[in-house]
Amino acid sequence: MSEASSQLEAWLPRSLLRLRSGSAIPAATAEGLTPVRLSWADGRLQEPELLGTPADHLKALVLPRLVDPHVHLDKAFTWSTHPNLGGTYDGALEANMNEHGIRDLQAVLARGDKAISRACEHGLRAMRSHIDSLGPGADASWEALQALKAQWHGQVELQLVALVPIAHWSTTEGKQLAQRVAASAGLLGGVLVPPCRGTSVRRDLRALLTLAEELSCGVDLHIDEANHGPAQGLQQLLRALEQVPCRQPITCSHASSLALLSPQRLRRLAERMAEHRLQVVALPLTNGWLLGHSPEATPLRRPLAPIRQLQRAGVRVAVGGDNVADPWFPAGDFDPLALMASCLPLAQLAPWQRLGLSPFTTAASAVMGLGWDGRIGCDAPADLIVLEADSWSEALRRPPERRVLIGGRWWKPGRR
Ligand SMILES: [Zn+2]
Repeated sequence: MSEASSQLEAWLPRSLLRLRSGSAIPAATAEGLTPVRLSWADGRLQEPELLGTPADHLKALVLPRLVDPHVHLDKAFTWSTHPNLGGTYDGALEANMNEHGIRDLQAVLARGDKAISRACEHGLRAMRSHIDSLGPGADASWEALQALKAQWHGQVELQLVALVPIAHWSTTEGKQLAQRVAASAGLLGGVLVPPCRGTSVRRDLRALLTLAEELSCGVDLHIDEANHGPAQGLQQLLRALEQVPCRQPITCSHASSLALLSPQRLRRLAERMAEHRLQVVALPLTNGWLLGHSPEATPLRRPLAPIRQLQRAGVRVAVGGDNVADPWFPAGDFDPLALMASCLPLAQLAPWQRLGLSPFTTAASAVMGLGWDGRIGCDAPADLIVLEADSWSEALRRPPERRVLIGGRWWKPGRR
């Protein structure tokens, strides 16, 4: 594939193929891969051509550029100066607050640019980043991320979420922040973890929902990131939604403690979530590292959003990378393939199953409300990741060599 080439032959997950209506379902390998020839012109794909099987000569696997619906660009790569060696939630919060107290524009610009470069090189086309939006580092963080959003426009799409305590949205400053967030097409965020019972929490949630509705602004909450108090936050959110209906898209990030509900209670809760069109972003890496972390014992209970039960109830579920080398998680590199590989053991998500792949592709695009759902078909963007692999196992057993096509041009580091 030279710089000038405008076609390739590769294996493509059949569930990501969008064929003309009436087309026969193409043959696929046991891993759901089908051989195709993809051609593009003027930045758009042409109708995919199906190749016959066997196609043993093909040594490439092609995917659409991927989407990460939950990251924290403002604090990425702060582990080295603000580590959380004990690996606890409280330790992470403390280190995060210390870092926030000293962060400045240049620091957030530098690490944000490094993060987006890594993400682009690894094949991400869009990310939703939460930003610590209350306290001394808030203004610098927004200024930096908005500048980076403009700089990377056309290469990587950024959505920004204002992360504050939920009660902040009831204050005058909170309402002013919401105006600014809405003006930059951002989302209103917050944290809701147990203990969060009581009427004051619901009052704060109602104020948030009212604000979101007034400003036509999406909501994305860190909710029930805990290994106790099962679904306390979700119960409060659902009660608030029954009092203050909200037509804006609402994302529940984490939703980890739902896994501790009995099967019957979980089924009823998931059905109510589907009725309210709540969507979930599961975050297996940070949950797997932080929740239940104790020096005395390796926890046997590993709360993670109950992905399959939610999908079965009709709730849209995506998976995100969350923290990268910050106090909340020491590893990561904005690599969607590494995330998929980690999700084999952590979430038992198999990419050869449609609902195992959708959290990284179509569902992630839908959570972010992107214009392209990530399926490969005529007139889709010529935005591809081409892996040196001829099977999912080959693609996921180690970080694969890859090339990234953006708008019909091969991406090179430093290209903007
Ligand atoms: Zn997060």
